[in-house]
Amino acid sequence: MPKKVSLTVKCPNCGEFLTDDTHLINNRKAIGLNIKTSDGKEGKIWLSSIYGDYNYTCEVPIPEGEVVDFMCPHCNANLARPLECEVCQAPIVSFTCSIGGKVSICSRNGCKNHYVVFENLDTAVRKFYSEYGY
Ligand SMILES: [Zn+2]
Ligand SMILES: [Zn+2]
Repeated sequence: MPKKVSLTVKCPNCGEFLTDDTHLINNRKAIGLNIKTSDGKEGKIWLSSIYGDYNYTCEVPIPEGEVVDFMCPHCNANLARPLECEVCQAPIVSFTCSIGGKVSICSRNGCKNHYVVFENLDTAVRKFYSEYGY
């Protein structure tokens, strides 16, 4: 069994931590964000901070296949980047990772590409391993 590690991420726009101390998913502090669906519903979403874990909870129901806007709860910046998901062409949403690089997810609910990846893989993974003592 690989060890479960939590990622700490920051808003790429204002630099504030996105970790929500008050909300746990799988006993880890979740990543708290605001979302807006295509029909204008707004609410909070909490993503699991565990690397490779795709669980989330959300105040508003997101239909399978729906693309939603993710906003920083501190500065309200839309976190979508001018990048498309390789699987479904929805916008990619990125956060700054505290150990270096970026964590990216697809903004479409249920997309198989909906997981965290590191950019600048070499540096991030080296820090990841030294920080968590694999
Ligand atoms: Zn922000
Ligand atoms: Zn996708």
